[in-house]
Amino acid sequence: MQDLIVQKYGGSSVANVERIKRVAGRIIETKEKGKKVVVVVSAMGDTTDELIDLAMKLNANPPSREMDMLLATGEQVSISLLAIAIQAKGHDVVSLTGAQCGIITSSVHKKARINDIQTYRIEKELAAGKIVIVAGFQGVDENRDITTLGRGGSDTSAVALAASLKAELCEIYTDVDGVYTADPRVVEEASKIDEISYQEVLEMASTGAKVLHPRSVEMAEKFKVPLVVRSSYNYNEGTIIKEEVKMEKVLVRGISLDENIAKISIFEVPDQPGIAFRLFSALAKSNIHVDMIVQNVNRTAVNDISFTIDVDELQEAVSVAQKFAFEVNAQKVEYDQGVAKLSVIGTGIVANAEIASKFFEALFELGINIQTISTSEIKISCLIDKERGKEAMVHIHKKFDM
Ligand code: ASP
Ligand code: MG
Repeated sequence: MQDLIVQKYGGSSVANVERIKRVAGRIIETKEKGKKVVVVVSAMGDTTDELIDLAMKLNANPPSREMDMLLATGEQVSISLLAIAIQAKGHDVVSLTGAQCGIITSSVHKKARINDIQTYRIEKELAAGKIVIVAGFQGVDENRDITTLGRGGSDTSAVALAASLKAELCEIYTDVDGVYTADPRVVEEASKIDEISYQEVLEMASTGAKVLHPRSVEMAEKFKVPLVVRSSYNYNEGTIIKEEVKMEKVLVRGISLDENIAKISIFEVPDQPGIAFRLFSALAKSNIHVDMIVQNVNRTAVNDISFTIDVDELQEAVSVAQKFAFEVNAQKVEYDQGVAKLSVIGTGIVANAEIASKFFEALFELGINIQTISTSEIKISCLIDKERGKEAMVHIHKKFDM
């Protein structure tokens, strides 16, 4: 759709009445430039965390369906308040829940995937000249049960809407100026990146930098949605995310640290064809996302297999691993929450052997042991002791002179 902009405002940008007013003003500015505007909002401030806490006080293992029912209310509060604020400034506006604007998802509660967006309702409202405010993070499955897209999922709602409506731009408004070379709360010298490729930012997002919901970037790349991450507190340029970005000799674009992971090890697994398949298909069936995998070289009839997962999925993953271990007669299952994944990211990194060596040297200089290494075309990651993660990130940022 011509002249359509999708804007997404995160929880901190709408955390209180003053901020909601300011965001309302900003939306109206865009509208007054002659644009059609679809806005996606997250729940106010820490609402989602507070709702989770409430549920946990009642039930340590609350049913996922009810969690989605609960968490979706957070966004319903912020869309209505934002619409009320915009109306107060004299503009036509309508707020819509995920279900109302036809966001159809899979039925996997708490991490549903968007399968389709039936955009006619939004199109109708836009045609009537209204600003459309959409609840992020939520959708509805085939049975009309409310689903959510995983923490931070509003980014994905925004990009999915931008893709389906063929928006000219998707702006992600947050409380920082854009994507940084490293988390500025940890690394003082971190600087804002002007332009970054989808692939690089995807690696940053999936290796722990809390810039964007990883799935939103995958989707932006797939549908070539032009994306900007910028602050809702100022008018700075932000970070442009697009297909390809020229590298002037900088190879390392960013460094990220993921502290929300855990490692599971299964000892003395029979060394036979089909064993890895059996384990990882069982994990996949439980919708557990596995990241780094190592199988050691054992010169006996057994192997040790380790893998990392999201710490949120630890309980479930351990029970899958235990069941597997029992069935194949492995010796035991252990897990470790004291690990973190440190990654350096940049196009062409793997082709440049010097980068890996500099990365490992930096860890050596701090006397930090590397537990696991994994690489992709544009990333090198090391699993290290979580306690030393931040220190390592600061040191590596210096070492690469970013
Ligand atoms: N409110 C949800 C969360 O805190 C979704 C989001 O912020 O994008 O995870
Ligand atoms: Mg949030």
